[in-house]
Amino acid sequence: MIFTSSRLPVRATVWVLLAALALALPFIVILGGERAAGRELLWDFSMGLGFGALAAAGLQFVLTARFRPVTRAYGMDIVYLFHRYFAIGAVALMLGHFAILYIWFEDALGDLNPLTAAWELTSARVALGAFVLLVITSEFRKTLRIPYELWRYGHIVLAVIAFGAAIAHIIGVGHFTGEADKRILWLGVTVSWLLILVWTRLIHPFSIWRNPWRLVENIPRHGGVHSLVFEPLGKPMKPWKPGQFAWLWLDTPPFSIRQHPFTISTPPEQGPRVTFSIKPLGDFTAGAIHAPPGTRAYLDGPYGAFSIDNDPEAEGFVMIAGGVGITPMMSNLHAMAERGDTRQVVLIYANPDWDDVTFRDELEWLEKSQNLTVVHVLDDPPEDWQGETGKVDRALLEHHLPEATHHWPHFLCGPGPMTQAVKTALLDMGVPLRAIDSEVFDFV
Ligand SMILES: Cc1cc2nc3c(=O)[nH]c(=O)nc-3n(C[C@H](O)[C@H](O)[C@H](O)COP(=O)(O)OP(=O)(O)OC[C@H]3O[C@@H](n4cnc5c(N)ncnc54)[C@H](O)[C@@H]3O)c2cc1C
Repeated sequence: MIFTSSRLPVRATVWVLLAALALALPFIVILGGERAAGRELLWDFSMGLGFGALAAAGLQFVLTARFRPVTRAYGMDIVYLFHRYFAIGAVALMLGHFAILYIWFEDALGDLNPLTAAWELTSARVALGAFVLLVITSEFRKTLRIPYELWRYGHIVLAVIAFGAAIAHIIGVGHFTGEADKRILWLGVTVSWLLILVWTRLIHPFSIWRNPWRLVENIPRHGGVHSLVFEPLGKPMKPWKPGQFAWLWLDTPPFSIRQHPFTISTPPEQGPRVTFSIKPLGDFTAGAIHAPPGTRAYLDGPYGAFSIDNDPEAEGFVMIAGGVGITPMMSNLHAMAERGDTRQVVLIYANPDWDDVTFRDELEWLEKSQNLTVVHVLDDPPEDWQGETGKVDRALLEHHLPEATHHWPHFLCGPGPMTQAVKTALLDMGVPLRAIDSEVFDFV
């Protein structure tokens, strides 16, 4: 993420402070209260860990609700990264809570057999198990070969079980919920979660449902990509920045989880129609590229922060794309053309072979009309190929990116390993980290 607009870091900092406050709240409440006689500090600390875990887990409602002020401040991929790390942190705190009780206060854990154990303690074990499963199935989804949609359904079911059981545990055990002010606090927190859930799953989808879109054109491109053009039948999308993306539902209502993110390749100046250029990679995309004009769709956007607009003062831009990672670059390049922006752009674009090079004709045209240099890199070039071949490595980057470009914003989008390797090479070349922004097409 490149923070060059002065308001973005302020917003980002405010959100971090609010998150820190939410996490600190349980400890403040517990330490601020009178400690009952005979209770050990270690016991209270363990309770603090338990409540802290729930606060960290509760933040997930905010992080996954796609609140625009949050996603605008960081970019969706960073928000999902927070989601991931907070979830791991929450499970670590829960395990800490459990470990202290197990080692020093084993009696408090009671009977392990769910048939004879106190329900509130069984709830705790169910919650812990569900939270651990949530983290394991998310961290190792690909290794465990869990299909994306199955994983998403499972994620929702496990999250409901985990939160339900955790709240039942807290209420049932009754520590720090006895006094009226603390009861009001926890009740307030729980009600806020529920409200966010209602907004995310009902109110927000309902507003999307009231503003459907229609597919008006389906244009085949090189490399198996199809550009789908949609027109609004209701309210158009809020003004977007080049490089932003939206979630797309095709032929399914927006209450369904069958929604997929795609970069908006239409420059904002050419709205209200919105184009997505889609490469078939799995079930949804394979079906989407064959969608006939007239297909009903729903869009939720714009989101993301992968945009030249984040740095109005930049002298020029470096863009490095692999395969379908070209879509946000096209969106930014088209916006520059539309605006008559003549700043220099160097685009390094890697593909397996020449037939895979999506938008190659448009790029040729943009190269003639804009201050743009395109460097195609092919893994498997045709015989008469004069250009670059192989991987985008440090030697190739040094050859095409003189030192004067090092402080320009660098946009990276492509397969994960390529993006990571290019980032490392750029850092080794002396490009500052703050000048490198990467978009991942793979949140989990
Ligand atoms: C910000 C962003 C912008 C994107 N822009 C484009 C674009 O312009 N053009 C394009 O062709 N592709 C784009 N993608 C990738 C596109 O969203 C996935 O290829 C598509 O969702 C795959 O779905 P599938 O069912 O066809 O494939 P699957 O085989 O189900 O999924 C392939 C992989 O895509 C990811 N994925 C699947 N479904 C989702 C989902 N609902 N949300 C997030 N990730 C998912 C998962 O990591 C999965 O392993 C973008 C992704 C992101 C995150």
